[in-house]
Amino acid sequence: MATEEITNQEATVKSRCSSCWGQGIRQGSDGTQGFICRYCRGLGYVEIKYIPFERLIRVEGVQEVLGRFDSFSTVGEVDKVTYTEYFEQGKIPRISEEKRGLNKAMGEAGDDQ
Ligand SMILES: [Zn+2]
Repeated sequence: MATEEITNQEATVKSRCSSCWGQGIRQGSDGTQGFICRYCRGLGYVEIKYIPFERLIRVEGVQEVLGRFDSFSTVGEVDKVTYTEYFEQGKIPRISEEKRGLNKAMGEAGDDQ
């Protein structure tokens, strides 16, 4: 649970339209006519909204951080650091190889946080 104030200030970036490659139009078959791109409506770009990352948000109550992605894995030794080392010193525990291999096999779909 996050107890800090979290900024949700959205930012916008212009991304080149992947449908018309930034041309804004699709060229007709005879080459002399251009048709407005239906995805960007002729702009050549689409706007993507996102929330910029500022800093980690502190989680109250956590005392240690383990190098695995969930609380179910019991395989082998797991690297861990104190929450203070993690939050204030930027230490990240070495991530369990077995778990990382499993997630890779699942196409990185295991990250549902
Ligand atoms: Zn387009």
